[in-house]
Amino acid sequence: MHFPVRMDNGELRLFKGFRVQYNDARGPMKGGIRYHPQETIDTVRALASWMTWKCAMVDLPYGGAKGGVICDPRTMSQGELERLSRGYIQAVWKFLGPEIDIPAPDVYTNSQTMAWMMDEYSKIKGFPSPGVITGKPLSIGGSQGRNDATARGGVYCVREAAKHLGIDLATATVAIQGYGNVGSFGAILLKELMGCKIVAVNDTRGGIYNSRGLDPRAVLEHKARTGSVVGFPGTRAITGEELLEMEVDILVPSALENVITQENASRIRAKVIAELANGPTTPEADDILFDKGVFIIPDFLCNAGGVTVSYFEWVQNISGLYWELEEVHQRLDRKMTKAFHDVLPVSVEHRVDMRNAAYMVSLRRVAEAMKARGWY
Ligand code: GLU
Repeated sequence: MHFPVRMDNGELRLFKGFRVQYNDARGPMKGGIRYHPQETIDTVRALASWMTWKCAMVDLPYGGAKGGVICDPRTMSQGELERLSRGYIQAVWKFLGPEIDIPAPDVYTNSQTMAWMMDEYSKIKGFPSPGVITGKPLSIGGSQGRNDATARGGVYCVREAAKHLGIDLATATVAIQGYGNVGSFGAILLKELMGCKIVAVNDTRGGIYNSRGLDPRAVLEHKARTGSVVGFPGTRAITGEELLEMEVDILVPSALENVITQENASRIRAKVIAELANGPTTPEADDILFDKGVFIIPDFLCNAGGVTVSYFEWVQNISGLYWELEEVHQRLDRKMTKAFHDVLPVSVEHRVDMRNAAYMVSLRRVAEAMKARGWY
């Protein structure tokens, strides 16, 4: 779709956006909306298919979709972002709805973006419709625990992987690539829930390292103040390559796709890769890492905590009964732990990596739904 947005300087600019609805065999479609200058229909399509496998992975009654707008939110004002978010909904609202397709936050969108979108959709419909979108602020039907849900779900997976591999998380070292909503909570929760030592983190401007471990909350404050993790006191500057290739127990890619490739995979020294980002590892890199014995918790398992709490939010919206934080955490833990242990035995039995095993589990679930509905 193309839609016009009034910029602060008075100029009218035409933006290009996408929504891909990949499969709805298991229920209404679900998936985030990304704002990114390099967005393309192909990445959105790939991400919509991953949402399908992700929702099936944690056994949610959803299909998969994804959206995106080509824009650079870092150069736009709040007013411009609000008009862009409302313009996107004006262009796409007919294809959305609590029973059709339910968007959520993703790269460079957040609870404020969701609030504008929920408001625009509700205005068009003529009544408040909180169930059309998830990741909203608490004041308009958001769920407790949605903010850190993606990272928290990944931490539960890391806990299960560590038990399986015999890694003691209380002495484990961690490097985190990306310090946005997912990476920063990943650092905080791995330290606070599991006792891990976070030795390196980075963002688009650069990276920092301290062998004695970082205080992730202080790093987040520094980033909020200065715009980057770079320059955090008591750390040494590192490059993006150094971070990925560092000798740590756990590497957590938490930014964009295609960062671990054929080119650098042989230099990766982590024992476990917990993919909190979508699509950080290319298929060629996967093969190299499997041969090296690196244990990868694949994206559509590892980062499924976000959509899981999105599902909880939608359930609360349509039932009108709201849960306490403790209940969200317990239900999330059960979903993630079950999903991890649905995949692990398939990987052991068929001698395939966790990603192939996860595909086997998810594809079977989607295929079963398609067969039951008589589509094939
Ligand atoms: N954007 C997140 C993802 O890639 C969350 C999607 C959702 O909550 O619907 O899983």
